[in-house]
Amino acid sequence: MDQFKDKVAVVTGAGSGIGRALARRAAREGMRVAAVDQHAGRLQALQDEIEQCGGVLMPASFDVSDAQAFGAFADRCCDALGTPDLLFNNAGILRVGETWTHDLAQWQTMLSVNILGVVNGVNVFVPRMLEKSTPSHVVNTGSVGSLVAAPGMAQYTATKMAVRGITECLANDLAAREAPIGVSLLCPGPVLTSISDDLMGIEAASEVVEAKDHMMAGQPDFMTPDDVAEVVFAGIRAERFWLFTHPFGQYLSDETARLVAGENPAYREVTFDQAAAAST
Ligand code: NAD
Repeated sequence: MDQFKDKVAVVTGAGSGIGRALARRAAREGMRVAAVDQHAGRLQALQDEIEQCGGVLMPASFDVSDAQAFGAFADRCCDALGTPDLLFNNAGILRVGETWTHDLAQWQTMLSVNILGVVNGVNVFVPRMLEKSTPSHVVNTGSVGSLVAAPGMAQYTATKMAVRGITECLANDLAAREAPIGVSLLCPGPVLTSISDDLMGIEAASEVVEAKDHMMAGQPDFMTPDDVAEVVFAGIRAERFWLFTHPFGQYLSDETARLVAGENPAYREVTFDQAAAAST
């Protein structure tokens, strides 16, 4: 897919961070945007911003793990804007802690949001995209954690490796049908967003922090959400499946060699091939 103007984009987790940057970027490309987030106040701010620039944004406030709410949203979105040409299943949450410290309810929340949120987006929109049968694209947000298991990250790693598996299967299923629908897995490295706010005891606000004011701004390897959106749109145009914000081919090839040799897992801190160009 390389034509975006006057097309429709759906973005989940659009109230903050990477999702917000993707929504803004889609609007700048001339797309009509349906923006999903559980924080209505964040969507209001985004809607005001996009409409001030002459864009169209349809806000929808619900939990992406709620299949019924997602289905009702899909009906409203297709009626109001049309079947999406670009689908970003991006909403996600982070929790850290040793593997045995999360109770079942915490596991269920994490699996529901990070995995079933993606599944719901695929289930309600891909059949419609198939029916429409015009060039379109699905981007699911994974993580470096889709490829690497770090200590303290069992929940997040479990969900992001699942998202990788779902996304690869989706790409293979659509290719088997010769559908004109591209698929990508976005694997961000560190990005200046609000995803760690909960962990740091920062209360969710309707006004989200801009990247330049983020406490990690200027730290090596941290990228801005706007830079991530650039990588994503370039990757969609180039029909790339793997969207790495931070190239780490050397690290991956070293780890793969250890796996093929049958070595036991031993975490080595992820290193990137080059420092991310922080544009703050
Ligand atoms: P963020 O917290 O800044 O934004 C995520 C948005 O999603 C928030 O506005 C939040 O309200 C919304 N959201 C969360 N759960 C939801 C739910 N159940 N229903 C609806 N909306 C919900 O975080 P971000 O960093 O922009 O994260 C976006 C995606 O990128 C996530 O999937 C995350 O795992 C992934 N990611 C982020 C990083 C990073 O360094 N920031 C790195 C790798 C992957």
